[in-house]
Amino acid sequence: MNRRALIVSGAAFSLAGRARAEPPGLELSGRFQQGGFAIGRTRPRAQVRLDGEDVGQASAQGLFVVGFDRDGPPAAEIEVRTPEGEAAHRAEIAKGVFDIQRIGGLPEDQVTPTDPALLARLQAEARRKAEGFASRADIDDFKDGFVLPVHGFRLTARFGGQRILDGEPKRPHYGDDLAAPVGTPVSAPAGGLVSFAETGLHYEGGLIMIDHGQGLVSCYLHLSRVGVIRGQTVRRGELIGAVGKEGRATGPHLCWRLKWRGRNLDPMLLLGAQAPV
Ligand SMILES: [Zn+2]
Repeated sequence: MNRRALIVSGAAFSLAGRARAEPPGLELSGRFQQGGFAIGRTRPRAQVRLDGEDVGQASAQGLFVVGFDRDGPPAAEIEVRTPEGEAAHRAEIAKGVFDIQRIGGLPEDQVTPTDPALLARLQAEARRKAEGFASRADIDDFKDGFVLPVHGFRLTARFGGQRILDGEPKRPHYGDDLAAPVGTPVSAPAGGLVSFAETGLHYEGGLIMIDHGQGLVSCYLHLSRVGVIRGQTVRRGELIGAVGKEGRATGPHLCWRLKWRGRNLDPMLLLGAQAPV
């Protein structure tokens, strides 16, 4: 496994007041693989960059998260910067191991919709979902990792699976499918702000998104019941809804997804994660 803790340069941490003239420290822990993530600890509000791209500021506690896309490159350059200086770490990103044969539990491939009314509905839903993904709560509720959102499930499709039909790669499956009976309670795997909560979506049925801070947004698809509203704060383990088969689903399951600033991550990799101390 790729579970590592790195101490890159932590000399300045315990010196709080006197250390202000020193460059920021940078410590990282996480899963350095495609679909994985790193949690970083540095100086509060340090500017964070991933592969040269500005990805926001560390939290008031100096924590941040970066994600490594399923199809991302084999290395990641993580940098933090304050007026006093900078620190950087280049991490090797292991290739993800994905099921590229056949995925159970996914909807049949559907024909591209042409009905104007359906197209308009899908566009409107896509706009609202994009707003949910764009949520950027100033919190760091990712710092203790995730717990499972459902108990007593069967894992029927893993993150990253992909079918290749007649040599044509289909869109990868960006979630973990946790099969469980309709009505099985779904709870928040970590605290956060509910950035989307609707029922009746064409593809997803009942859909909830939770913003855990620093651009990390988890998603819960096909719910039969949505028990939270947008703008609500939830705590780890708090009941948010129930498993269903709403939208385009072949059977009852929770499709659990995770995005970080547009990158697709595997939510299972966050289980038991911890910020560097
Ligand atoms: Zn799924």
